[in-house]
Amino acid sequence: MGTQRTIGVDVGGTKIVVGLVERDGTIVRVERYATPVGSTEAFLAGLSSAVESLQDESVAAVGIGLPSAIDQRSGTVVFSANIPLAGLDVRSWAAEAFGLPAAIDNDANCAALAEWRAGAGRGTTDMVMITLGTGIGGGLILGGRLYRGWIGAGAEVGHIVVDADGPLCQGHCTGRGHLEGFASGRAVEAAARRVLGPGAGTPELVAAARQGSGPAREALAAAGRWLGAGIASLVNLLNPELVVIGGGFGEAFDLLIDPVREIVARDGLAPARDVVRIVPAELGAAAGVIGAALVGFEALDGAGVPAARG
Ligand SMILES: [Zn+2]
Repeated sequence: MGTQRTIGVDVGGTKIVVGLVERDGTIVRVERYATPVGSTEAFLAGLSSAVESLQDESVAAVGIGLPSAIDQRSGTVVFSANIPLAGLDVRSWAAEAFGLPAAIDNDANCAALAEWRAGAGRGTTDMVMITLGTGIGGGLILGGRLYRGWIGAGAEVGHIVVDADGPLCQGHCTGRGHLEGFASGRAVEAAARRVLGPGAGTPELVAAARQGSGPAREALAAAGRWLGAGIASLVNLLNPELVVIGGGFGEAFDLLIDPVREIVARDGLAPARDVVRIVPAELGAAAGVIGAALVGFEALDGAGVPAARG
């Protein structure tokens, strides 16, 4: 038997990235396609042809990362904001469509798995991943494995409550005072308009802060303090060795980290707060496809995430 690889599929609201990936996380080949969102049938047809574009005799399993809440008991997408998948057993569909072991997970868990195995978290056993994008996603590596919660719906670090009775959360979330409403890329947009005027967004705010704008730096520091509050709670709860910060807005790490550390030092408990390291992610946007492929290896090995057999 030759080298076994898996195909990782990183499904986003606008594009589907597929990668042929080695067991150590090395990407052999990658392709990008537009995400068909008109109907479930169109989406699945697009997903099929994207995977088939990389399928060869080395491919032993398929892992699919979805921007969705998933029930791992049934392999079903419970809720998906941008893609018409709710109620569908994507895991069984994929196993049958590709004739291979298949597994699914949400995109934030995939990013955490990738950074743990092939990025900033290599060699750790207890790691928190926080993905700062339009929203805030996350993943937990606890005791040397990805912790998914009872039915696979856990590790939603963007929705921990940092302000009881605080403002309504974003998107379809009906909670109040969640971290995502204070420290995500979208949450910072209001500050960007306030500081820089209408039409300005988070990237402009970050650029202004880098050029030395005091109000821009203060707006990002405020987001950093909220992020620090969330991280302090995670440190107190989990005593992680490492916190990895990724995602598009996570590229402002240098502007967020001092206030994050200030609040972790104040609100974290000794000794956990004193030993935790907080670092930027290493894999960038590739984390999604690498992590999905690693979920595929879990399906192949019969360990970790539940799998369907093709
Ligand atoms: Zn929320």
